[in-house]
Amino acid sequence: MRRERCGELREKDIGRDVILAGWVHAVRDFGSLTFVDLRDSSGIVQLVFRGDTRARELGREDVIRVTGKVVGRENPNPNLPTGAVEVAVENLEILAKSKPLPFLPEEEVKASEETRLRYRFLDLRRPRMQRNLRLRHKVAMAIREYLDAHGFIEVETPMLTRSTPEGARDFLVPSRLEPGKFYALPQSPQLFKQILVCSGVERYFQIVRCFRDEDLRADRQPEFTQLDMEMAFLEDPEELFTLLEGLVAHVFRKTIGVEIETPFPRIPYAEAMRRFGTDKPDLRFGMEIVDLTDLFSNSGFRVFAEAVANGGVIRGLPLPGGAELSRSELNKIEATVKNQGLGGILWVKVSDGLQSPLSRHVAEGVLMEAVRRANAGTGDILFLCAGPEKLVAQALGALRVQLARERGLIPEGKWALAWIVDFPLFKLSEEGRIESEHHPFTSPKDEDLPFLETDPLRVRAKCYDLVMNGVEIASGSIRIHRRDLQEQVFKILGIGPEEAERRFGFFLRALEYGAPPHGGIAFGLDRWVMMLAGENSIREVIAFPKTATGSCPLTGAPAEVDEAQLRELHLKLDL
Ligand code: ASP
Repeated sequence: MRRERCGELREKDIGRDVILAGWVHAVRDFGSLTFVDLRDSSGIVQLVFRGDTRARELGREDVIRVTGKVVGRENPNPNLPTGAVEVAVENLEILAKSKPLPFLPEEEVKASEETRLRYRFLDLRRPRMQRNLRLRHKVAMAIREYLDAHGFIEVETPMLTRSTPEGARDFLVPSRLEPGKFYALPQSPQLFKQILVCSGVERYFQIVRCFRDEDLRADRQPEFTQLDMEMAFLEDPEELFTLLEGLVAHVFRKTIGVEIETPFPRIPYAEAMRRFGTDKPDLRFGMEIVDLTDLFSNSGFRVFAEAVANGGVIRGLPLPGGAELSRSELNKIEATVKNQGLGGILWVKVSDGLQSPLSRHVAEGVLMEAVRRANAGTGDILFLCAGPEKLVAQALGALRVQLARERGLIPEGKWALAWIVDFPLFKLSEEGRIESEHHPFTSPKDEDLPFLETDPLRVRAKCYDLVMNGVEIASGSIRIHRRDLQEQVFKILGIGPEEAERRFGFFLRALEYGAPPHGGIAFGLDRWVMMLAGENSIREVIAFPKTATGSCPLTGAPAEVDEAQLRELHLKLDL
């Protein structure tokens, strides 16, 4: 139907006969002359019609085919790659008309997200969305290229399966052939990939859809894509880290042409919590949190002394240029911290000397030492918080990112990656039950095995996250590969032998017939692509995403089904 592509025509093509097809992007009518911008996925070129009245009738998003000749443009448009030329149309064929548009698929789209998703076929025509889809494809290509070269093979695992324990709610699918029974959609291929390495697939990967039925807070999707990986004969995570640093560097180079510095720093979980107040530190900027407990515990200030007596900590967060903050800005910051559950916040401004509400209670030398430890200089402010360690870390960690963002202290175009290692194996749930920090198949650290029975919360895991610009983009672990240790961990989690057999018997059996030591990881692909694309929401890099309430405005899913379908599935609704 077409021979040339709109976005590829240049000065060197002048004089050439072309056949183009595409969408009408704009129509400008000057009576005897009509200009039409024609768009295909390669870009836009200007068509010029002389005296063809049908051209005047063309509307936005009509699909046309033209033959014509490339000519030089009288008024070149330097903003368009094809701006030096236009196509003098000899023949116009209208292939499809478009109804009036619910919104213009322009770069800065004004429609609500609901409308954009409902008419996704229009929304995806926007060059930016085309670019995002192509980028996503390039990322997947680069991943496959690299992993193939490193001996990995892609293996598909079932979508209709049993519940997998990633800690979220399952999506269930009723079985017609076995009334009363249900499949679960996989929260991840975790158990299948472990069984694959037991099956002799020594290097597995899969770009795979995962399903978690969670309340969709903060930019989550009920179905999302992981790059899932597993390796046999892996004991030392360093081996995996090196391989994955190569993968990450390859993907960055092949997709956005950025050279990423490797190796990435390794930061133990406890250190990340202390220095950044989070296990997802944004390392693009400084502002490290300092512990000042020892310094202030005997400073004579009652609030601090009490916090320490109650087992708490005192920590400081420096803010470059913060000495100029006004009273009302400081009040706002205090309110944020109180929202996080702390009593309040104190500060020391470094300008001509030190200014601080603490000056009346604490010796100048102590404040000077605090400022020194926090690396705060003239013009800066040092925030101080006291209280239970977890709360203080969280509050200062959140404040660090919020202030850096608000005050433009995060450098643009910078990529800071790090491995977070040595996570605890377990955590306490809100009801005080022991839960896996990651998932129950994560191996404890050998040196912490003695505490497994006596002090499980002290046990660290062979578990790691990859963090990029303050976002967790991958998470994995060395696995347990012995049935007895796996059963011991289940027991600590309150999963007795019967329940273990019922839920995971198939997997435990695979561990009994020669299971190699193994480990792996999974990357959140949507988020990674989102960051490479410079977008703020994963919905911008998923062709057909769902809304925050898990619905699809395009198809209307989820939707009612016929009574007959329910009967076939032996289901009765109780609404
Ligand atoms: N299955 C894990 C997850 O989805 C990743 C892993 O441990 O490999 O978080």
